[in-house]
Amino acid sequence: MTPGTLFVVAAPSGAGKSTLVNALLEREPQISLSISHTTRPPRPGEQYGRHYFFVERPDFENEIAEGIFLEHAEVHGNLYGTSRTVVEEKLVAGADVLLEIDWQGARQVRQGKPDCVSVFILPPSRTELERRLRGRNSDAPDVIERRLFNSREEIAHAHEFDYIIVNDRFEDALADLQAIVRAVRLRAPLEALRHHELIQELIAP
Ligand code: 5GP
Repeated sequence: MTPGTLFVVAAPSGAGKSTLVNALLEREPQISLSISHTTRPPRPGEQYGRHYFFVERPDFENEIAEGIFLEHAEVHGNLYGTSRTVVEEKLVAGADVLLEIDWQGARQVRQGKPDCVSVFILPPSRTELERRLRGRNSDAPDVIERRLFNSREEIAHAHEFDYIIVNDRFEDALADLQAIVRAVRLRAPLEALRHHELIQELIAP
């Protein structure tokens, strides 16, 4: 069994990351999205276990102490983290896993799992980032302001990632993201394992 690939996608709030990732998962259903734990309250329509595992801060802090997280970080005043066992079990079983996390978490994942493939999504302009963030009715004005302010710090770490995609035209950005996933799957070391029998057959005298 060849292990799966761990994809890490980060972006400032409002860059369109979740919409892009959801569209990617429709096209590449074999990728499994990791569901994070968070202390952020649910937005209208968000479901426990589908969008996040919503937990209270003391419970999250206990989970940190128990070492259950592959990575965790405080983002916009809330704690977010990725369960280590869920991700590792899927990777070992050969599934690709995608983490939608912030730059701090991406840095921790890169340290622990240097084989991961990381992608940063940029908005096409500051004006467009603001427009997209303000157009999202699910966040209170002070939350939007905080996210806009924090976007500068997030974007300042874009160069740490393996790939950068500018989400100007959605279809182009989606094609770029899919191209990265496909190119990674075709990398020789994994493909040589996957096609071992074919290669043996082709080189047999
Ligand atoms: P939101 O509250 O809009 O769902 O997410 C806010 C930010 O937290 C986004 O940048 C998102 O990528 C990040 N985030 C979500 N889950 C995780 C996680 O498990 N770990 C880390 N480090 N960041 C996360």
